[in-house]
Amino acid sequence: MTATPQVRTRFAPSPTGYLHVGGARTALYSWAYARHFGGVFILRIEDTDLERSTPEAVQAILDGMQWLGLAHDEGPFYQMQRMDRYRAALAKLLESGHAYHCYSSPEEVEAMRERQRAAGDKPRYDGTWRPEPGKTLPPVPADRKPVIRFRNPLDGAVTWYDLVKGDITIANREMDDLVIARPDGTPTYNFCVAVDDWEMRITHVIRGDDHVNNTPRQINILQALGAPLPQYGHLPMILGTDGEKLSKRHGAVSVMDYPAQGFLPEAMINYLARLGWSHGDDEVFSVEQLCQWFDLDHLSKSPAQFNPEKLAWLNAHYIKQADNARLAELVTPRMTGEGADFGNGPALPAVLALMKDRAATINELAAAAMLFYRAPAPDAALMTQHVTDAVRPALADYAARCQSVAWTREALAAMLKEVLAAHKLKMPQLAMPLRLLLTGQLQTPAIDAVVEVFGRDTVLARLAPVA
Ligand code: GLU
Repeated sequence: MTATPQVRTRFAPSPTGYLHVGGARTALYSWAYARHFGGVFILRIEDTDLERSTPEAVQAILDGMQWLGLAHDEGPFYQMQRMDRYRAALAKLLESGHAYHCYSSPEEVEAMRERQRAAGDKPRYDGTWRPEPGKTLPPVPADRKPVIRFRNPLDGAVTWYDLVKGDITIANREMDDLVIARPDGTPTYNFCVAVDDWEMRITHVIRGDDHVNNTPRQINILQALGAPLPQYGHLPMILGTDGEKLSKRHGAVSVMDYPAQGFLPEAMINYLARLGWSHGDDEVFSVEQLCQWFDLDHLSKSPAQFNPEKLAWLNAHYIKQADNARLAELVTPRMTGEGADFGNGPALPAVLALMKDRAATINELAAAAMLFYRAPAPDAALMTQHVTDAVRPALADYAARCQSVAWTREALAAMLKEVLAAHKLKMPQLAMPLRLLLTGQLQTPAIDAVVEVFGRDTVLARLAPVA
């Protein structure tokens, strides 16, 4: 019996902006796969591009991961702090003859490419400094620092079974002798990724399919290092509703815009999970179910379309499910910003229990709940229209009965019916003026529920002018 190695996955973002929705999906799939197998999920920050990497972008990644609840088991590892590891690996490849110093100047390389392009060939390094048995290399130019190139095999091909796309084969002659260290000795992108995946013992590399072309290079480097190969799965990209690559034009693409807009992380997780993976016809599932079900056999081969309406629908679903105290915490800062007077209103969780069925976002919920926390300022024309002399006696009767009625929704509903019957009115004739007097607006949840939540004292105070 051979023991299966523990699953080890990683998310390896470059901190050059915000955490993109596509990146979050990649992170989620890597995380869920590790969770499914009781494996290890690693966060690695690929910050070697010094011009484009920023501490703010690192923070945005950490914030996004935290908001989504994608906790890493190891890391975060920063590539800039691993330079000695890459240097050691470079030395190993030079030593074993899998890499060589190349003294061709940038101008020479450019001239080489020009010639090849002119001859209709694919531009590539011509191998001037590539050692071959029996070959004499040119004299080393004085004062020139060399790059290090990977001695890519000339023949054969790299083949891997991609977990999303199936078999992929790329001929070695399609690949150049890649520069793996710059003249100042700093290692280049593909080399760092290969070394890290090896040393971090990654078993499954799940990433966007913009990396498919890097994979054969990384596989060759891993093989030269004598490293075992991980399995690779390349996810198709995410498109906007118009079929173009998802971008700012389609709305928010930064994960951290979503909490600001009032989305719940579980809605985002559920949405991203379905954006390129399926479990039968299941559309709504918890993060626990996702971890239980997630596999790499049901990844979609075709690009997914980001559908903001479906995300909003899921968000509405999770808002309905959410605990009222948690919702209260989320809406409070938003409502405070709008000047909510919490001291003179009902308990917030009770209000949210009443309002949460109609909100697609926390922001909508907060706006709706304001109804209970500001002094009503009904429009004068609406007052004239609805609080007529014909209904005033009924309103006064209603207010009088409010003094002693049992304060439950059922008792309030029965009492309202009695008043309607006694004054021969229809429901809207009384409900509309009550809404106006109590809240200042005509659109509210069911009037008995609103009355119940406001409480006896507030209702009596607001009906006093007509009582
Ligand atoms: N740092 C790369 C990126 O952000 C990902 C590298 C990888 O997953 O191998 O696109």
